[in-house]
Amino acid sequence: MKTSNVLTLISMLLLILSISMILGAIVAPTSDSRLSNTAFLILTVLAMIMLALSSLLSTYAKKKAASTVQRTISVIKCVKCNYQEERDFQVGDYVLKKVGSCTKCAGTLIVASIYLLSPKR
Ligand SMILES: [Zn+2]
Repeated sequence: MKTSNVLTLISMLLLILSISMILGAIVAPTSDSRLSNTAFLILTVLAMIMLALSSLLSTYAKKKAASTVQRTISVIKCVKCNYQEERDFQVGDYVLKKVGSCTKCAGTLIVASIYLLSPKR
């Protein structure tokens, strides 16, 4: 979260910088400012590249953050038959907790195990 905020700030600053440089290149009309115009142009291009890079970096950071979100799964099993289901962990779940009755045989459903689902890479 903090990394993407910093990157947004950097890209904003670079945008302002490049706009001011473009304006500077346009506004400076004297003939002996040809060299500084070229310098302005190079700096502008550099700023644009950095801007593109920082936006790419922020996209990458967001993707990475999304892929590291872990899900906790509760495995529900029937004590009488082989019925089994998995659902997202709910606060208060613990192993051997009775969570209802089986839809197939009316036996007791218990939380058989709780595990962390590894994030997809
Ligand atoms: Zn059952």
